[in-house]
Formats: sequence, C-alpha cells, structure tokens
Amino acid sequence: MRPNIAIIGAGITGVMTALACARKGASVELYDAAAIPNVANLSWAHGRLWKHAHENNAALQPLAVHSHAFWRQFIGTGKETFGCQTQSIRVVDDADCRRLTQLYDALAIGYDIQDPVLSVQSSLLRLPTTNRQLFIGHDAILLDAQKVYAHLCQALANTERIVLKPHTHVELDTIREGRHFSVNGERKNYTAVICTASRPILRHLGWPGAAPAPQYQVHLDVHLNDARAGLLKPVLTMGDEHRSWCVPSPERRVLKVSASRFSYSMPPDSNGLQTCKRYLLDRLRIKYDQVDVVVSPYFKLPTEERQDTAYWSRHDITGCITVEACDASIFKIAPALSEQISQYVIHGVNE
Ligand SMILES: Cc1cc2nc3c(=O)[nH]c(=O)nc-3n(C[C@H](O)[C@H](O)[C@H](O)COP(=O)(O)OP(=O)(O)OC[C@H]3O[C@@H](n4cnc5c(N)ncnc54)[C@H](O)[C@@H]3O)c2cc1C
Repeated sequence: MRPNIAIIGAGITGVMTALACARKGASVELYDAAAIPNVANLSWAHGRLWKHAHENNAALQPLAVHSHAFWRQFIGTGKETFGCQTQSIRVVDDADCRRLTQLYDALAIGYDIQDPVLSVQSSLLRLPTTNRQLFIGHDAILLDAQKVYAHLCQALANTERIVLKPHTHVELDTIREGRHFSVNGERKNYTAVICTASRPILRHLGWPGAAPAPQYQVHLDVHLNDARAGLLKPVLTMGDEHRSWCVPSPERRVLKVSASRFSYSMPPDSNGLQTCKRYLLDRLRIKYDQVDVVVSPYFKLPTEERQDTAYWSRHDITGCITVEACDASIFKIAPALSEQISQYVIHGVNE
C-alpha cells in the first residue's frame, strides 16, 4: 500500500522532504500555518550560504558535505540563476589561522591566506588588520534562498502525489503515535507524521537533553548602490569584538550583515536595535541606499548539546519524526536532511 505521509511546516526542510517522499512513491499532505511559500518564514531570504567546513559543529559538517552535489547541480542547471560558487572569508589571529589551515588540509579543500591590508574586502568592509590574517576558503556557494524556495514550492504544486494544506495551523501537541493529529477538532490519520516546523514539541519532565531555546537574531538587509558590490564575498567573521559577519545575495544586490553577539534570548527594544544598526553600518565602506533592520526568531540548541544531537529524531511523546531547532544554519543541509528523513520514514533506513 502507498504510504500516506503528513508533513507539518512548509519551509525549505518540509518542502524538500515532501518532494523526497513523493519521489519514493508516497502520497504527501503538506501543512503550513501560513501560505506556501510562506514569505514570513526563515527560508524566504535574500542570500543563504553553503560551506563545507564547520569548525565548531561536528554534526553539521557531514550533512553539509552530503548536500553539496545537490546545490552544485541546482545552481548549474536551467536558465534561472539560483546561486553561484564563491569563497568564504574569515579574519582571524595566527592561532585560528593555523587551526583552519589544518582543518582545510585534512578536508582537502583549497585556501589562501592574505594580509587583510592588501585585500579587496578591506576596501569594502572595515576589517581590523593588526595581528590578523585573512583566511580564504575555496568552499562556498551563495544561494538565492527566495528563488530556490519559490522554485521548489512550484515543483510541489506540479507533483500529483502532493496535496498542499496552506493556512492550516496544526496543534503540535495533538500528534500521537507518529500517525495522527487534530486540525480544528478533526482527527487526521496517516502512516507517518513528520514535523519540520523547526520548533520544539512538548517534552517529558525527565527528558535528558536540553530543549531548543528561543533566540532573536538582529541583522540588516543593506540594499547596495556601489559599482564595486560584485567584489563582495561572504565574511564569516570580521575579526571584531562582536564577531560581525556578512553574506551578500548571489547577484550582490543585498548584503545581510549581522554579528554573533547580536543574538538574544528576548526580542531587543528599539534602543537595542538602533545600537546594533549603528555598529553594523559602521563595519561597511560600501555605498548603499536602503537599510532594513530585521529580527528573526528561531530555536537553537546550546552549542555543547548540538555537537552530540542529531538534527532530526523520533519524538519521545508524539512519535513523529521532527526537526526541532534551526540554529540559524539548516538551509544548506535541507537536501541531506530531507533524503535521510524520507529514507527512514518510507524504508526504515537510518544511516
Ligand atoms: C539571520 C539568519 C541567517 C541565516 N543564514 C543561513 C545561512 O547562511 N545558511 C544556512 O544554511 N542557513 C541560514 N540560516 C538558517 C535558515 O534560514 C533556516 O535554518 C532554514 O530556513 C529553516 O528552514 P525550515 O524549513 O526548517 O523552517 P522555516 O523556513 O522557518 O519554516 C517553518 C515553517 O513551519 C510552519 N509552521 C510552524 N509551526 C506550524 C504549525 N503548528 N502548523 C503548521 N505550520 C507550522 C511555519 O509557518 C513555517 O512556514 C539563517 C537564519 C537566520 C535567522
């Protein structure tokens, strides 16, 4: 009998999982509390970065590696431009530069090391230069996230075995036995339920692991107005006290700029937002004409938990397969995640 699968949450993870399940012969009903595509979720963004090396996240790196072939093929096909290959830049001290050199050598990825003073990026961004090196990894892909996500939503609409259920909020704590839940008081039954809402579901009091916690990341979308914008590369850390970073959209129209330190457990007030904005704009030497201040809410596992915790699992109470935290980093691994989840749900294979 054909499996009949419910997927809750139609961001990039849910959409790719729906397509992967349908490719494997299942019927799928894909729910989202908003429209599909949902232009208010985290998958609707100007630019998202794929990279190979994740020096602080051992769980993320293999999933990134397994997603690489998909993205390379995806950006290289058709008339549309979904992204481009580029380099990832880190402004680091000598010790971090040595660690990165070892890591990139071990992974057999190319890199260059430059004096920041001499680099083009220093003419576009205000980078600290004293006792700093520019580590340039040859391992990045810039994805036009909105275009990728919209394109995959179109593919859903063209797939017969997938039924879309937009504007349908599912009460996640009504999911039971991994097979049924209620929508507006009506019980829905499936052979399996997958929750890709990227938020935690209720827990036993004695649950051993930490639950993902809410975070609010402040960033600026800076609309560029500078003939040199094409030279911008993603900078993973600018080497400043707040660990600023920036990711341009693939066609370099919009620059997302933020800092690791500008992630909060409570939404910042307007004074806090102004402080972030001033600090981040001060990092730029490039011309722009519009700045949007954005606060993105998401759920995150503590860094030490993340190292040993899989990105998806079977939930202990509801029995559904779930992705409970996005950690502001899983757009790039959606191809690998969706493949693993669909293999498990349809063929019982967990590798
Ligand atoms: C500032 C910032 C920068 C980032 N940069 C990168 C990057 O460079 N590279 C990268 O790989 N990742 C990056 N990310 C993370 C990436 O955007 C997210 O991890 C990814 O988009 C999450 O996709 P998702 O499908 O899991 O969740 P989402 O896109 O958030 O979608 C979840 C969906 O579930 C729906 N939903 C929720 N609850 C319910 C319910 N009860 N019933 C029905 N529907 C429900 C929501 O409406 C939503 O549409 C970044 C994130 C942030 C905030």
